[in-house]
Amino acid sequence: MILSKGQVICQVCPNGCALAPGAVGACRARGNVDGAIVPLGFGRVTSVAVDPVEKKPLACWKPGSTVLSLGSFGCNLHCPWCQNHEISQVGEDGVGWRTVAPADVADLAAELNARDQRMAGVAYTYNEPLVAWEFVRDCGELVHERGLSNVLVSAGCVNPQVIEAVAPLIDAANIDLKTFRQKTYALTGGRLATVQATIEALAATPTCHLEVTTLIVPGVNDTREEMDELAAWLASVDPGIVLHVSRFHPAFRMRDRGRTSVTLVYELADVARAHLAHVFTGNC
Ligand code: SF4
Repeated sequence: MILSKGQVICQVCPNGCALAPGAVGACRARGNVDGAIVPLGFGRVTSVAVDPVEKKPLACWKPGSTVLSLGSFGCNLHCPWCQNHEISQVGEDGVGWRTVAPADVADLAAELNARDQRMAGVAYTYNEPLVAWEFVRDCGELVHERGLSNVLVSAGCVNPQVIEAVAPLIDAANIDLKTFRQKTYALTGGRLATVQATIEALAATPTCHLEVTTLIVPGVNDTREEMDELAAWLASVDPGIVLHVSRFHPAFRMRDRGRTSVTLVYELADVARAHLAHVFTGNC
């Protein structure tokens, strides 16, 4: 949407940044270039690794396989406890990156797969990949053409048209559901209802295996009541959804408290198991 004086509203996430020419959005990964919103993170890769799928985490999709994991910079959320802030909370000037074309990504994945067939495909991960969703789409199409899979690891706080565009290309996803309270989501700059809509859309995509992660932050989202409501809602969407209940460690702007108690993580996982058949603990 174009406003006066060359301002354009970015439609990718609920922030709806109104960007003047040359301005960069709150995610630091999209900007107004010559009157159009462009993904500044497109093909600008800050992190590359071959990871076990269990590290994404995906517990019930192609166990024992690996994925070529790519990250860029930027995120539309600003969680005080971000466990990956070195790349998610900076823009193009805040971190080193190199440019990679989608065809190079797909070719590298195919080459790795030819050497070791446990290599299942490409994961879009580390920062928020959907702030440059066009890269996910372009790589995703080429990765599928080479007979490999696409994995999305995202906070899921983007508008429905973005999910509609990428969902058919995603074979497995892990979506963060950071809390079941909008008041707590506000601390991150995110919207619970938007993330719920993403989870519902991916759960309704028959070709997409869906897992969800909730990081338990002490004093933020660590009550039995909240976990009970969160897990009950996930089960109402699809009782087959896999939930990871994960342990916080002090990071970024939240260093005023210690790691989440392992006992509490186990207790909350048990609460979730009253609703869901597949619940795992992480970082314990
Ligand atoms: S994706 Fe980035 S630029 Fe677009 S609305 Fe969200 S925060 Fe703003």
